[in-house]
Amino acid sequence: MSEILTATAAELARRIATGEQSAEEVTRAHLDRIEAVDPKVNAFLAVDSERALATARQVDAKRSAGEELGPLAGVPIAVKDLLCYQGLPTTAGSRMLEGWVPPYNATVVDRLIAADMVILGKTNLDEFAMGSSTETSAYGPSRNPWDLDRIPGGSGGGSSAAVASFEAPLAIGTDTGGSIRQPASVTGTVGVKPTYGGSSRYGIIAMASSLDQPGPCARTTEDAALLHAVIAGHDPMDATSIQAPVPPVVEAARSGDVAGMKIGIVREFAGDGYAPGVEQRFQESLTLLENAGAELVEVSCPHFVHALATYYLIMPAEVSSNLARYDAMRYGLRVGDDGERSTEEVMRLTRGRGFGSEVKRRIIIGTHALSSGYYDAYYGSAQKVRTLIRQDFDQAFTSVDVLVSPSTPTTAFRIGERIDDPMSMYRADLCTIPANLAGNAAGSFPAGLAPEDGLPVGLQVMAPPMADDRIYRVGAALERAQASAWGAPFTSQIPFLEA
Ligand code: GLN
Repeated sequence: MSEILTATAAELARRIATGEQSAEEVTRAHLDRIEAVDPKVNAFLAVDSERALATARQVDAKRSAGEELGPLAGVPIAVKDLLCYQGLPTTAGSRMLEGWVPPYNATVVDRLIAADMVILGKTNLDEFAMGSSTETSAYGPSRNPWDLDRIPGGSGGGSSAAVASFEAPLAIGTDTGGSIRQPASVTGTVGVKPTYGGSSRYGIIAMASSLDQPGPCARTTEDAALLHAVIAGHDPMDATSIQAPVPPVVEAARSGDVAGMKIGIVREFAGDGYAPGVEQRFQESLTLLENAGAELVEVSCPHFVHALATYYLIMPAEVSSNLARYDAMRYGLRVGDDGERSTEEVMRLTRGRGFGSEVKRRIIIGTHALSSGYYDAYYGSAQKVRTLIRQDFDQAFTSVDVLVSPSTPTTAFRIGERIDDPMSMYRADLCTIPANLAGNAAGSFPAGLAPEDGLPVGLQVMAPPMADDRIYRVGAALERAQASAWGAPFTSQIPFLEA
């Protein structure tokens, strides 16, 4: 069974399409794995066994009937519990939505279904995707399979933990400030935030609408690209969706050719505050890429140092307005509605009880930043700096094809270590936030293990808008160079957690 679990999604899709293995067998293996290890990992908030097996059997029947199968047909996938999927509760990791079952599917979910993929269930996340550790989830933290006392990243830590513990070969994440890339980095997996507008936000519970973007989580670059190709592309239901063909991500992941590619190293993302093992593996990745034919150039993006501060004004401003819809009337929780209390009182009680403290902190900051008299000083200034950050990217991309940095300054920290220190929690997204503010594509790829703690380090690759394929080209080149330098691919180092 473990052989099914450690196989790539590409390999599983091939076996299922040729009839070498049934989709049902593949699905059962993953459902059994979830039953065996999820009590330790807590990656899943809901497992949808019956529907998953029924879908798998349909795929097998389609194949025997000689019908055309979708790409990744029969391959199991886990979906972050921020995306609506009919028939299963969508909680967003919050008490506020406990028991709420969405009446429609997110476009991304519809595309998984259309591709004949098998949805295993919904994964844990920080409440409303706010956090870097899954510790703000109302349903308890997920754990990192590399060390169960450590965080699997956040907000999409359930998705990264599911993929890294071989509960699913693929998962869907969403990334507002790093929630796909930082979890990928600290779990030794691959995660890509597509160009803003490259994949649809329709049916995804909004955190900060100008930053949110769904994307793939996987163990290999090719698998991430295959999933990216399934979910991306124009959607008329999302007003910010880009009307253009999906960049050739699968071809790029299969080619991995970086000969002559110019790779810009962001000067601002190094030095103090970066763990020595992170620095070391980052430098080593650069050498591997250089040996593969890429040209390395140091680049300055002077405004990137303000990205974190900018994000923590723009994001809460959008959060405060998006989360106003949880008014105790329309969705989920309603507290104190005894026929005596006023609507305002019920709303106050519900929001007080339904939201956790991190969510409340952001609603308060956002409301303040948008309030009259402060709007120009806070929100207005932040929007100006956002433009300067975008201009830094534009300027850099006149001389280089991609930019690189460590994905996150440290490896996975211990559960509990940063929960009372929001500023140190926020620092986990130092390097990932600029790409959200500018809207361009970015991904994280395994760069090896930090010698000091044996935990995974990630390399971040950033590309211009709609040049997502370049990210995969670099990821694939790195993966190949590692396999030949180390004698085995990085994935062979991911520990196979015992039940
Ligand atoms: N960790 C960041 C935050 O707390 C990013 C969240 C995200 O990308 N959803 O806001």
